[in-house]
Amino acid sequence: MVMGTLREEAELAIVGGGPGGYVAAIRAADLGREVVLIDERTRLGGVCLLEGCIPSKALIHAAGLIDAAREAKAVGLEFAPPKLDLGVLRQFVHGVIATMAKGIDGLLQKRGVEVIHGRARFTGPRTLLVEGEHQSTIEFRNAIVATGSRPTRIPLAEELPVWTSTEALGIPEIPSRLIVVGGGYIGLELGQVYAALGSKVTIVEFAPRLLPGADPDLVEVVVRRAKQGLAGMLVESKVVGMERTAAGLAVTVEHEGQRQTLEAERVLIAVGRTPNTDAIGLETLGLSVDAQKRIPVTDECRTSAPHVFAIGDAVPGPMLAHKASREAKIAAEVLSQHKSAFDNRAIPAVVYTDPEIAWAGLTEREALERSVPIKVSRFPLRALGRAWTLGRTEGFVKMITAPDTSLLLGVGMVGPQASELIAEATLALEMGATLEDILVTIHPHPSMSEAILEAAEVAAGSPVHINPAKGR
Ligand code: FAD
Repeated sequence: MVMGTLREEAELAIVGGGPGGYVAAIRAADLGREVVLIDERTRLGGVCLLEGCIPSKALIHAAGLIDAAREAKAVGLEFAPPKLDLGVLRQFVHGVIATMAKGIDGLLQKRGVEVIHGRARFTGPRTLLVEGEHQSTIEFRNAIVATGSRPTRIPLAEELPVWTSTEALGIPEIPSRLIVVGGGYIGLELGQVYAALGSKVTIVEFAPRLLPGADPDLVEVVVRRAKQGLAGMLVESKVVGMERTAAGLAVTVEHEGQRQTLEAERVLIAVGRTPNTDAIGLETLGLSVDAQKRIPVTDECRTSAPHVFAIGDAVPGPMLAHKASREAKIAAEVLSQHKSAFDNRAIPAVVYTDPEIAWAGLTEREALERSVPIKVSRFPLRALGRAWTLGRTEGFVKMITAPDTSLLLGVGMVGPQASELIAEATLALEMGATLEDILVTIHPHPSMSEAILEAAEVAAGSPVHINPAKGR
């Protein structure tokens, strides 16, 4: 019940408790700020913890176990076909989320951050109205907008019982046939999970290829493997109709002028995410958004209202949790009068498909688009001992260097553990490493990380485990 309106003052008000907002609260409190953190959900952690990064990776782990058990036959181990207890799987995912959410609560409590659960809206240049169990007005000196994003809906699916990633991550059921509309990373990751759990999955992508943001050679390796597990992958295919049927839903897809109708029990729409920047009263701060509904910010994460900062999915840049958390620290530091700016050279991107794809720094695609001259050198995992011991030799690491110097500009990779390996590449890029820096660094043997060293050796023209290029 809403009683009266409470009034309070805050040195810093942060709206949104995801990996942007809660990290900003921790950093700002550690720098001596008095912080109020507001989130409309009952638990903190935002999309990333509650319906994004963490539950999806917990499910990918389960799917990986199923695949590993099947493939164990190759090393002489045979298991009975897996029996899925959906209740236990849900409990596992919920348990991970609950533990981590509790951890965030504890971190904030220790630092004296006040947490208010309710929906916040700016009502003036220095005031916020929060509607929750109580209604309160907060007068702030500084504010950080960290309201994140939500799944983009498609008009054709309005009123239809389709899933977004949020519903799919709740694993309400394992549909016998699932159509995934959208072949970006969320669609592919969840598509592979449901395929491992027993659904016949068809992915429908509008662009000419899956994962349009990644270099095609990296994607090709995943597509080859996904062909074994997925019922279909349609590219350059537009969904032009969707309707209810007795069995579930029928999706009409147009490809090169031809139409076909696919039927499924469930349809998952994963066509992107929309920033939560509407209905939060940005106009009362004098702020507007760009064509993609993002709040423009400076490299200090400051909006055009100098006392208001914005971070994470609500601002331009890749919609990734680690980018949100980096911006969170910058905003907290700048408003605490510290010198700080988003001057990062590389934001790593990872697609947790099987095998994983990761890249950091300049990609071949970007170099082509921007006409940047580059040299590309690849090291195939089939020449790597550790890859053979894992029974997974598909994939490669590629180095993108400046042709006239040996400066590292970008690294891309596809293969097992790419999500872990990319951290070394990101550090190298951040430190302005040259090939020589990598060449003199001893990498543990046998490990997947040696693929980075080997790729640098290929780039330097001194490969050890593959033959040198002809003409050398
Ligand atoms: P969010 O995490 O969206 O948090 C914003 C919070 O603000 C929410 O809790 C919301 O309830 C609250 N809020 C919004 N408006 C208001 C309001 N008016 N009043 C009060 N509270 C409000 N990223 C990765 O880096 N790696 C991954 O592997 C990855 N996997 C993903 C998988 C899926 C299925 C999805 C959907 C996303 C994934 N992401 C991943 C993206 C990642 O979740 C986001 O980039 C990240 O959560 C953005 O953080 P944020 O703090 O900007 O916003």
